[in-house]
Amino acid sequence: MILTKFVKLRIRPIVLKHYLSLGYNIKVNDIAEILVEHLTDGSHVLIWVQCDECGGTKQIQYNKYLSNTKNNIRKYTCSEQCSHNSNKIKETKKELYGDDNYHNIGQMKQTNLERYGDENYNNTNKNKQTKLLNHGNENYNNRDKFKETMLENWGVEHPMYCEEIIRKRIETQTRMLYDDYIEKLPDFKKYEREVLKFTKKQSLSLLKDIEKRSPYDYHLDHMFSITEGFRQNISPHIIGDIVNLEMLPWRENQAKYNKSTMIDSKLFERYDNRDSLLKQLTEDYNKRQNSTILSF
Ligand SMILES: [Zn+2]
Repeated sequence: MILTKFVKLRIRPIVLKHYLSLGYNIKVNDIAEILVEHLTDGSHVLIWVQCDECGGTKQIQYNKYLSNTKNNIRKYTCSEQCSHNSNKIKETKKELYGDDNYHNIGQMKQTNLERYGDENYNNTNKNKQTKLLNHGNENYNNRDKFKETMLENWGVEHPMYCEEIIRKRIETQTRMLYDDYIEKLPDFKKYEREVLKFTKKQSLSLLKDIEKRSPYDYHLDHMFSITEGFRQNISPHIIGDIVNLEMLPWRENQAKYNKSTMIDSKLFERYDNRDSLLKQLTEDYNKRQNSTILSF
């Protein structure tokens, strides 16, 4: 089951037509909020999903979800084990009853007859009576109350629509800080590797203080952090790009941990002006070289 309702993503030229045809009023490079169901089938965007077998939640790419569920036809299972378990139950039912959706109606009737003296007994009336007594309304439904509370406390109706709730839930379940949890996800590791791959390809020698790079001196820092980039589905190309890089004294870099020292709009602005930023970096680099020569 998909838990994420909307995702924010940067519109690439190749998908523009798709979203325009769905009625989105957007252009290339916009950061748009897209309903998950509207994503292209091949989308690599990360979404939160819940295993239909064990109930565990995790983040995976949308296209992976589709292939796991055979385009939403089958249940989503988070692991080999869960997939096995889910099939096993069906297989057993099929073996025993020749129908994988078999429910033991005969057995239910028998139990009802024994317990209540009526094979068609069902609890609905009893429920209605209880609701009438407790809430003054036989059709009372806790969902409305639940929604109300959710709206009051979180500004959303469903718990999964709110990142803060996901964060709290994960922290309670895992007894880990949310950020630490994110960094342990296999998908995060994959993302981080991608970012570093692009980082390595940059003209790092242009960066000020690059010559001081060492574990106990200066560190290469991603100003918009990799963790935050992962969380906001920002392309690893952009996070790993030189426009997002600076050298930081290692103590400062440690204190910063996985926080960003830049907001996303600033990051995209820098990426859009990459050429002039590179020109500036080159000019500064040349100035430093000249002054070094002069000082000898
Ligand atoms: Zn599972």
